[in-house]
Amino acid sequence: MTEPVDLFVIGGGSGGVRAARIAAGHGAKVALAEEYRYGGTCVIRGCVPKKLLVLASRFADEFARAADFGWTPVDARFDWASLRAAKDRELARLEGLYRDGLARAGVRTIDSRAVLEGPDLVRLSSTGERVRARRVLIATGGTPSRPGIPGAELAITSNEIFDLSALPSRMVIEGGGFIAVEFACLLQRLGVQVTLVYRGELVLRRFDDDLRVHLDAAMRESGIEIRTGETITAIERRGASFRVATERGEIDAGLVMLAIGRVPNTQGLGLERAGVEIDERGAIRVTPDSRTSAASVWAVGDVTDRVALTPVAIREGHAFADSEFGNERWVCDHEDVPAAVFTTPEIGTVGLTEAQARERFARVDIYRSRFRPMSNVLSARVERMLMKLVVDHDSDRVLGVHLCGPDAAEMIQLAAIPLKMGATKRQFDRTMAVHPTAAEELVTMREPVVPDRGAAG
Ligand code: NDP
Repeated sequence: MTEPVDLFVIGGGSGGVRAARIAAGHGAKVALAEEYRYGGTCVIRGCVPKKLLVLASRFADEFARAADFGWTPVDARFDWASLRAAKDRELARLEGLYRDGLARAGVRTIDSRAVLEGPDLVRLSSTGERVRARRVLIATGGTPSRPGIPGAELAITSNEIFDLSALPSRMVIEGGGFIAVEFACLLQRLGVQVTLVYRGELVLRRFDDDLRVHLDAAMRESGIEIRTGETITAIERRGASFRVATERGEIDAGLVMLAIGRVPNTQGLGLERAGVEIDERGAIRVTPDSRTSAASVWAVGDVTDRVALTPVAIREGHAFADSEFGNERWVCDHEDVPAAVFTTPEIGTVGLTEAQARERFARVDIYRSRFRPMSNVLSARVERMLMKLVVDHDSDRVLGVHLCGPDAAEMIQLAAIPLKMGATKRQFDRTMAVHPTAAEELVTMREPVVPDRGAAG
């Protein structure tokens, strides 16, 4: 048994690393164990490499559009191996920064799996060493779920997609959530013919309906085949490719990717020995201040299945560390969390959807604008931008902002500030426009498109 620590963090992803560094900064003696690579899903096989691939894929549109702006057409060719190598160098750099940051903060980093032997006792699988800890933070994240269908093991998930030796010419992706639509859009632009198989009727189920319709149309326009109301029922290997069966037929593809959600990483962690309760999805049950059912154990990030986004995990970890080791008690606010989906066109969204607003408020005004962004006006491209504000008629408060089009992710970050502050539509309108931009629509939409006079009307 080594010397006890004030905090033992299991998991070196966004939430765990932030908590470890902040706690150490408050003077705590901290150890952190990571079994794979530092940076977690976001840095190693999520947000960061995905965004690099998205950026790479969008050159396809730029090259096509360049001729409309007077450039001689270029015969550009895409080389997956070069992009993969560049991406790997960047991830190695980022992982190094994570490790350095922990070391500089004085955190002991341990490259090993760690499991709980009790509420204040952790065992390192690599060496068998036992570490006693006054507090334990579980930040082990999540992992892609796999359906129990024949041949499921033949498919890849977002864990493997980044390291393929080559891209296939045809690919089937199952799912209609963040990962499925993002990869469908980027792979299609990198030259893969994508078929998306989704069990629902319209992708991105919990998003505003106008966004969903807009994105669905844009994806189809870009050449992606979207098959709705279907699931994959079996996958079979056929020589070098695969035959995918659904309820409605068969599809041949060089590769199959499953993006049907993620499950919390709680298996084999020794949670039962520590008295840490999980829910029916395997997520650790936590209070708003990230306490578990065991007095000395906390949990943050995807393993708690609250809002599975990197900035949320970081803030949960920070709140935990400040509250337990600093002088300030605070909790992470999970309301009005802005989000982006890095499809092309991309989505930015914050606040209530129109449907949610209509459930909660008697009278809801909708402001909506669809227009051709300037980047498309000289070209034959028909792709339009969608901007939508959801407003409470009685208080004039802006309840939701939903954007789909170029730079929507950048715009939504800024729109999220007034929304969080409780700004009214009148305050949006008093803000001067910046011209010519797409974002100016946010402050120039004068008339509601669906005037809702409610029961009184
Ligand atoms: P999501 O929860 O977003 O979507 C899962 C999709 O799979 C849904 O369309 C769902 O259908 C479908 N599905 C679920 N179970 C089955 C099943 N058994 N058979 C067939 N289809 C099924 O999960 P993702 O895996 O796309 O992403 C996980 C999380 O990661 C996201 O929720 C998000 O929090 C985070 N993420 C964030 C990103 C960002 O910020 N840009 C990017 C990528 C991930 P239905 O709609 O009918 O439920």
